[in-house]
Amino acid sequence: MRLFKYTFASLLFLVGAVSFAQETEQQKREPGHYNQSKFKQLYEEFATPNNYRSASGAPGPDYYQQQADYVMDITLDDKNAKIYGEETITYTNNSPDDLEYLWLQLDQNVRAKDSKAPLRNGGGVPLAEQPSSFASQYMGEPFDGGFNIDYVKDASGKALPYTINFTMMRVDIPTPLKSGEQYTFSVKWNYNIPDHTVNRARSGYEYFPKDGNRAYVIAQFFPRMAVYSDVEGWQNHQFWGSGEFALTFGNYEVDITVPADHILDGTGVLQNRKEVYTKEMMQRYEKATKSYDKPVIIVTQEEIEAAEKGFSNKTKTWKLKAENVRDFAFATSRKFILDMQAVKIGNRDVMAVSMYPKEGNPLWEEYSTKVVAHTLRSYSAHTFDYPYPKAISVHAKNQGMEYPMICWNYGRPNEDGTYSDRVKYGMMSVIIHEVGHNFFPMIVNSDERQWGWMDEGLDTFMQYMAEQEFGEAYPEAIAPNDKYPSRRGDPAKIVPYMSGDQSTISPIMSNPENVYQLGPNAYAKPATALNILRETVMGRELFDHAFKTYAQRWMFKHPTPEDFFRTMEDASAVDLDYFWRGWFYTTDYVDIGVKGIKKYYVTDKPTKKMQEYMAARNMTEADLPPLVYLAEEDSEDFDPNLKGKSPSESSQTLKEFMMDNMTAEERAAVKEPKYFYEITYDKPGGIPMPLIVEYTYADGTTKNITYPAEIWRKNDDEVSIVVSSSTELTGIVVDPKMETADIDTTNNSWPKKEEQNDFDQFKENIKGK
Ligand SMILES: [Zn+2]
Repeated sequence: MRLFKYTFASLLFLVGAVSFAQETEQQKREPGHYNQSKFKQLYEEFATPNNYRSASGAPGPDYYQQQADYVMDITLDDKNAKIYGEETITYTNNSPDDLEYLWLQLDQNVRAKDSKAPLRNGGGVPLAEQPSSFASQYMGEPFDGGFNIDYVKDASGKALPYTINFTMMRVDIPTPLKSGEQYTFSVKWNYNIPDHTVNRARSGYEYFPKDGNRAYVIAQFFPRMAVYSDVEGWQNHQFWGSGEFALTFGNYEVDITVPADHILDGTGVLQNRKEVYTKEMMQRYEKATKSYDKPVIIVTQEEIEAAEKGFSNKTKTWKLKAENVRDFAFATSRKFILDMQAVKIGNRDVMAVSMYPKEGNPLWEEYSTKVVAHTLRSYSAHTFDYPYPKAISVHAKNQGMEYPMICWNYGRPNEDGTYSDRVKYGMMSVIIHEVGHNFFPMIVNSDERQWGWMDEGLDTFMQYMAEQEFGEAYPEAIAPNDKYPSRRGDPAKIVPYMSGDQSTISPIMSNPENVYQLGPNAYAKPATALNILRETVMGRELFDHAFKTYAQRWMFKHPTPEDFFRTMEDASAVDLDYFWRGWFYTTDYVDIGVKGIKKYYVTDKPTKKMQEYMAARNMTEADLPPLVYLAEEDSEDFDPNLKGKSPSESSQTLKEFMMDNMTAEERAAVKEPKYFYEITYDKPGGIPMPLIVEYTYADGTTKNITYPAEIWRKNDDEVSIVVSSSTELTGIVVDPKMETADIDTTNNSWPKKEEQNDFDQFKENIKGK
């Protein structure tokens, strides 16, 4: 019986059958191989889409979010470093649910005398400790920094019962707050402000012993509404210190009373500038609103040096109003120099602002506001136009912390005004990062308490782009002929972490409280993953459109990880489930190598393997259509007479096929490669990535081919690729530009490169001296 018709299609069918047989072998080797495909869609990991959150990654038709509006009266007692506040909260329940009680966050309670936060660490003796941490831990009384709540009252002044559980406060309202209704109530409170340089608080003061003044950077300072959402209900994961914040959008009217000689700024638009600014300050401010190329100094170093010597017992009240922000923070001191410039964002003017004590100069005067302006431009171009009226960078020792429109940043020169490159770039980078947080998570308002990477990872990725763009925009500000020295984002920089001890690595999709290495986990690894996605996997055009789509879909809303993952696929038509799985859901790493190479020749004679295949099926050559075979050079299939011949010379079958099926012109245009190779690439690393290869030929030419990551979809361990060429292949390099964070490059080349080990390098260096 004839098994096949002699057609080209049946020839392909047979070849298909042979390779299918090989995969069955593979399946036998690894039970469950197909079930565990890295390319399986993430249906089990992702939450089921619903009417609140669509499968496309966009907000669904029933998406809602709550609103919390605040009217606050704040007083700073500078002498005693205490802060007092009265706030009226109007809470709007836009959810479909009736709420029996309201939850507020009392984050300062992490610093209460009886806080359990310091007792949660079971890691034993640390490698080293900062003297300040050591002293506060072992050498003194615990600081009494928790909230003192004077009252919680309803709108008519009647006391409301409340229960404090560590950093959360439940307010029991008399009747459930129905869907669509509003509730107004007030809280009066005070607490002792900590020295943030001693116990690494995100908020507090720095004391300057030389002049006896404090500089305050104040945040998480008032009882704030917890988020109630379709995902978590009440977000009531406590504030332990590492996991940051989850906050509701709302409008703020805040009056802050401080000593009359203080300079203050914060979230929102200053309502009484003429009352709190001097005449000179007003004039300089007017000038700054029209200065687009450089900052105008509004409070000078001379002026604050005079102010530092006094201490006003009078007070001034600064009135700020902010719309659609998720938080409120401010900075105040008689030590603050102030400068500003205008930045064009779309067709609007935004003010870039810096506040710094003289201890920050000359560095801060030179770079801070310039970097703020650049950050707003860069981030706006990649997401949406910055919607707020200003962005302030405040210099605070050892701080890097973000709030809507205002952030605290480190970077202090030596006392004599000199500074290292490390301090300079550290300062620029932290300003880019913290100002950048306005976009993620202040506007694209993800839940930081649950997912550190959604704000830190996205922001660190954006920071990398903004840094590189800064280097291009201001070449005079960086080392000559160099790129901006970004600390994170470049694929090679994540290799030490991803190749490190697995017992101290967690998937990116982990709660920030539960990971060993928060920096690499929530910042560097997701930033690198996104950078690789943009440069190597998706390409800039597809990536940028999808990333922008995510930012614009979720600006002023609360996205989840799935909303991000889904939008990136939805807007690009690139299946990224394998990528999210490998990079975000596992602790796998990337390692791809070239394992072996075999040379082949074209022949009409069935190879040994083919003969075995036929024998097993009781077939003879007569049962087959005319076929072409590739015979391996180092095998019994090899016939030395074939060497150096073109395919149509060494195969009669091929020659006849061409005569029967091609015109003379087509035959003349046919390419006849002389060299055939089977190259095997192996993948010791768990993450499937595009296989990027540079082939070098005997004539010195090179050719780069990127095989899609899908090449690993059937076999996660190794793949073999057939390559033909007219010149002999002399070299293969996998990932030649180090784009994929491949942790081991010793297997990336053929012929294998002799890599020097550290000891050889050491000996060589000694010899050289
Ligand atoms: Zn950050």
